[in-house]
Amino acid sequence: MEFRDLKIQYENNKVEINHAIQEVLNHANFIGGKQITELEKELADYVGVKHCITCANGTDALSLVLMAWDIKEGDAVFVPNFTFFATGEVVSFNGATPVFVDVDENTFNICPESLKLTIERIVKEGKLNPKVIIPVDLFGLPADYEEIEKVAQKFNLLVLEDGAQGFGGSINGKMACSFGNAATTSFFPAKPLGCYGDGGAIFTNDDSLAELINSIKVHGKGTSKYDNVRIGVNSRLDTIQAAILQVKLKVFREQELDAVNSVFHSYNNKLQSIVSTPIIPNGYYSSFAQYTIKLESKAIRNELQTRLLEHNIPCMVYYAKPMHQQKAFSSSSFIDSDFYVTNLLCDTVLSLPMHPYLKEEEIVEICTIIKKFMLERKK
Ligand SMILES: *Cc1c(COP(=O)(O)O)cnc(C)c1O
Repeated sequence: MEFRDLKIQYENNKVEINHAIQEVLNHANFIGGKQITELEKELADYVGVKHCITCANGTDALSLVLMAWDIKEGDAVFVPNFTFFATGEVVSFNGATPVFVDVDENTFNICPESLKLTIERIVKEGKLNPKVIIPVDLFGLPADYEEIEKVAQKFNLLVLEDGAQGFGGSINGKMACSFGNAATTSFFPAKPLGCYGDGGAIFTNDDSLAELINSIKVHGKGTSKYDNVRIGVNSRLDTIQAAILQVKLKVFREQELDAVNSVFHSYNNKLQSIVSTPIIPNGYYSSFAQYTIKLESKAIRNELQTRLLEHNIPCMVYYAKPMHQQKAFSSSSFIDSDFYVTNLLCDTVLSLPMHPYLKEEEIVEICTIIKKFMLERKK
């Protein structure tokens, strides 16, 4: 059994994917070209925004937006404490200060109330200029943008949606990667929509932001790559990856999103009376980058993980360490008790195998082991 089965996915779509790659090889057009332009249009249409700009990976996508907004030393950027390292890393990389915010224990996403209190504290301290909020659509579930937008307006902050795990999710039909002033995603192979290497994209309705990012991502180009009007970077999506993504986007929309949601329902039906299962708020739709349960304690979580691994069931702890405890951020001082929920989640979460090709028999097998384990504990 695989945690996320990319081999089956390839097997099922082999003819189309091979053909798409072969097309790129035949034309020997490896950078730019029609696949990139078409894919950007398809992604923008799907998400429902004006502009999609592809780039080298999801980390660059975040960084390109912060560069375009001129986020720099002295600026505060608010980031959930429970996320993948890159969300905070890009802030420090651009010279600004990541300010971590506790999350909601049901959705695992940034807590709007904690966000408000944290911003108020930073304003009161008067040392940093609050500039941006980066909510993360963790494990596929969009963050609470209605509440986040209210906070952003109150304090006049920009919102950058980190949709690296959220592509395909939605709130009342409004798609992930369409929230905030700009949004980003990642096409890392294991993300909801993955390519066969690294890749990423930025989404926005803001014409001038899109133009600026299109310049920054190609060495700060002006009218051409050899007319350079600002300092930029080199961050492009390879044409082969775009060709693969064109095939995979179609399958993702037509089958895979439904399939992961069926897996979610099947898991929840079997597990919800036994462990704490994912909660999807009304009107929300998740693209299930992860299916994550919670146990009562760290000891129980670790024992269950060991048990599953003994049965060759792959399972992972996302995330074992809060951002504020990462050594890379140790130059800032944080108060551990400010992050009650994040600390609790790091100790109690466990992500089970989750992908569109997971079979019902496999779900039954996993859930049977979990049920037996929990029953033994009660005796
Ligand atoms: C994966 C991920 C990123 C970074 O994407 P890469 O393509 O790996 O650079 C950023 N934020 C979150 C929440 C992620 O899960």
